[in-house]
Amino acid sequence: LHESEERLRILVQCAPAGVAMLDHNLRYMAHSRRWLTDYQLGDRDLIGRHHYEVFSGIPERWKEIHRRCLTGVAERCDEDRLEHADGSVDYMRWEIQPWRTAQGDVGGLVFFTEMITERVLAQAALRESRKRLAEAQEIAHLGNWNWDCATDKITWSDEVYRIFGHPVQSFQPRYETDFLAAVHPEDRAAIHQATLATLQTGKPYLMEHRIQRPDGSERIVREQGVRDADADGKPMRMYGTVQDVTEIRLAEQQMTRLRDELAHVTRVNLVGELAGGIAHELNQPLAAMANYAFALRSTLQGQLESHHTQEMEDCLSMARAIEDQAVRGGDIIRKLQGLMRRESSQRILVGIGSLVAEVTEMLAYEVQSARIEWDVEIPDDLPRVRIDPIQIQQVLLNLCRNGIEAQRDVGRVRRIRISARTGEPGWVVLCVRDWGPGLSEEVRDVLFAPFVTTKQGGMGFGLPISRRIIEAHGGRLWFTPDIQPGAEFCCSLPIESLQ
Ligand code: ADP
Repeated sequence: LHESEERLRILVQCAPAGVAMLDHNLRYMAHSRRWLTDYQLGDRDLIGRHHYEVFSGIPERWKEIHRRCLTGVAERCDEDRLEHADGSVDYMRWEIQPWRTAQGDVGGLVFFTEMITERVLAQAALRESRKRLAEAQEIAHLGNWNWDCATDKITWSDEVYRIFGHPVQSFQPRYETDFLAAVHPEDRAAIHQATLATLQTGKPYLMEHRIQRPDGSERIVREQGVRDADADGKPMRMYGTVQDVTEIRLAEQQMTRLRDELAHVTRVNLVGELAGGIAHELNQPLAAMANYAFALRSTLQGQLESHHTQEMEDCLSMARAIEDQAVRGGDIIRKLQGLMRRESSQRILVGIGSLVAEVTEMLAYEVQSARIEWDVEIPDDLPRVRIDPIQIQQVLLNLCRNGIEAQRDVGRVRRIRISARTGEPGWVVLCVRDWGPGLSEEVRDVLFAPFVTTKQGGMGFGLPISRRIIEAHGGRLWFTPDIQPGAEFCCSLPIESLQ
């Protein structure tokens, strides 16, 4: 008996965990060495001493547990906090079992405890670092994935779900149905090809492609994939990253656009200077033309009085037209010079009807030879507008000429409609519509930028200059979207001067 007791004592003493056996009064009967070290008790002899005397500051909740266990129930806890007398903290796992006497009564308690501080701290550190990683992924819009090739199971980090437009960890993704199906149809074949190539050769891939989210929106992602193979070179898994670079690419496009615009502005400035010089040079010959035309008209008028023939009559009206156009040319050049010098133009009250009538008259020849029908819809009670008539006529001429040129190859009836209506309070809206092929995709977004033209020999100046003139009047110039067939441009003109 003595020998067996001794063996039991050694077994308890050497147990690699905190073990203690207490009697019904919670006095120590036996304990392991580990019990002393775990609870920082030194070499104290605990046998016969009361548990609460050894641990004087023991919390009430533990005393409560002891009382319950002494009634015959076992209790356990997988993670509990233990505060030492010096204030330091440990974590432990414990189990308390009541032991029974030969008569079957509860003779006392056996405590088993295991210090798990290192594991708890490591788990907390792991949780923290996972959280930081997730935060970093969310900020950088960069997720990571892992694809087990044998089972076709893919693991996505939370950010990958967000990038692909799904609730986080909402399903178990698979290569074909969830990843490949989300890739934009035009990019799908290339991505699949790159994946297969990496699986076969082991060479990582890096690709940028589009994806479609369930809500229909499109994103641009940058994808990198690496392969892991077994000793025989058989692919085991692929893993990699996916980054949403949509905003970066949009910013780059915007920057390219701004650079292009800057280049345009520089060229426009240069052309502006050139135009200034040309305008100056043209002034003289135009004035001379106007003078000669005047002299010719006067001479023809004198002749006509003596020999009146239809031919002479025709010559006279042509001389008049030449004179009018030369004078008008001079006016335009002066206005152009004014525009460059930023001189404010002269605004007068004008009726839209008469303004349009002059323009249709000026275009009569072109319209007739292009076999175009005029359709002018201007209400009689439309308020008059305060504008520079020459400048606004220039705008109307540009818009009408574009309409005429657009219908050059049109087989059906060719028509230009000039219409006007009251717009927002204080404004009249003037529109020019044609029945041509409409605006081509390539120019639609850049229509009002200088040098944009689809015409052979076109300058791409008509619309930007027109817009500048209208904006100088405080108004707007725009094209009406979704006109079928043809194109319509409208501008707003002020009823009262804004300056
Ligand atoms: P340009 O007439 O010298 O080309 P614009 O600035 O007047 O310069 O016009 C720019 C471009 O806009 C044209 O080349 C043409 O492609 C397009 N455009 C303008 N008006 C029309 C229209 N009514 N119908 C179709 N395209 C048009």
